[in-house]
Amino acid sequence: MTVLAPGATIGILGGGQLGRMMAMAAAEMGYHVHIFCPENNCPASEVAAHTTLAAYEDYHSLKIFAASVDVVTYEFENIPLAPVIELNKYVPVYPSPDVLSIAQHRISEKKAINGFGVKTAPFAPVTSLEDLKKAAAQLGLPAVLKTCRMGYDGKGQAMIKTEAELEPAWASLKTTDAILEGFVAFTMEISVLVARDENGNIQSYCPVQNIHKHHILSETIAPAPIAQDLRDRAEAIAHGIATGLNLTGLLAIEMFVTPSGDILVNELAPRPHNSGHWTMDACVTSQFTQTIRAVCGLPLGSPARLCDAKMLNLIGDDIHDWQKYAGLPNAKLHLYGKTEARPGRKMGHVNLLSPPRG
Ligand code: AMP
Repeated sequence: MTVLAPGATIGILGGGQLGRMMAMAAAEMGYHVHIFCPENNCPASEVAAHTTLAAYEDYHSLKIFAASVDVVTYEFENIPLAPVIELNKYVPVYPSPDVLSIAQHRISEKKAINGFGVKTAPFAPVTSLEDLKKAAAQLGLPAVLKTCRMGYDGKGQAMIKTEAELEPAWASLKTTDAILEGFVAFTMEISVLVARDENGNIQSYCPVQNIHKHHILSETIAPAPIAQDLRDRAEAIAHGIATGLNLTGLLAIEMFVTPSGDILVNELAPRPHNSGHWTMDACVTSQFTQTIRAVCGLPLGSPARLCDAKMLNLIGDDIHDWQKYAGLPNAKLHLYGKTEARPGRKMGHVNLLSPPRG
């Protein structure tokens, strides 16, 4: 892999807050950023040198974009795969389209994870109501029915507690490409962010606890309040998955901790992740800088934690409390420049810092 020296241009697919924070990290290191996204006035464009405003399937614009950048990465995994494969013909895309393809489909994701010797919830593919009934009989209830593609923040999923709920759940999903997962009675949701370079060097951040409200991440606590042995196992799982995928770039791995101390992997996101925002103020290298380093072929930075942190998402009307957070001595406030505070919309986050607990 060629090392991209500062002065090179990094292309980012997607214009949301993750693209914005990646662009800011890139600028800090002397790189230029070119955003490609279909939405006007997006948070990332505001801080990037160039933006191409076009549909992802606009191959003409993609080709011109490819000629203007030295490497491409992306800020969300639900981007259409075909244009990413096309781009990769002209300019390297990291994480690779193969990794993206696996992470885009819940069944291929779980099969890959199990293939690396890592546990997930038990699952069965579901393509019809008949399948769903069979899968429910096999896995037992309660269970969670999910669309295989495009699910996020709890969208495209239905909890099924009784047989009577099978039919309405199937109707609500509006797809024939689904998965039924056994319900995991977890004690905690955690995630691990892992970065890997093309030579196979790996760095991971300490596991963190994630607390959701209305299916959206509300709070991240770093480090997760779990025993060291569990932290070590979670990081080992992350290293195994990053190696198994032959990852170049950053990967977020969401996990469930069970009452017996087992770790089951729920989801992969091959990009910076909301549960990694605490690293911006509490670690030697933030998740955004780490992504830029990995995709530019630089040595990975240290993920060492300098202090503990609690990250609070500012969602919708929470943004109106910005002044309160701005006045706290231990708070670092990050706002995404979005003007309209719609319910459920991520407007910013605040990192509350405290001395390390060990
Ligand atoms: P996901 O879209 O897969 O990240 O799921 C969103 C949230 O739903 C997770 O963060 C969990 O809180 C919950 N959830 C998803 N799958 C399961 C499962 N198999 N068992 C229990 N809870 C789940």
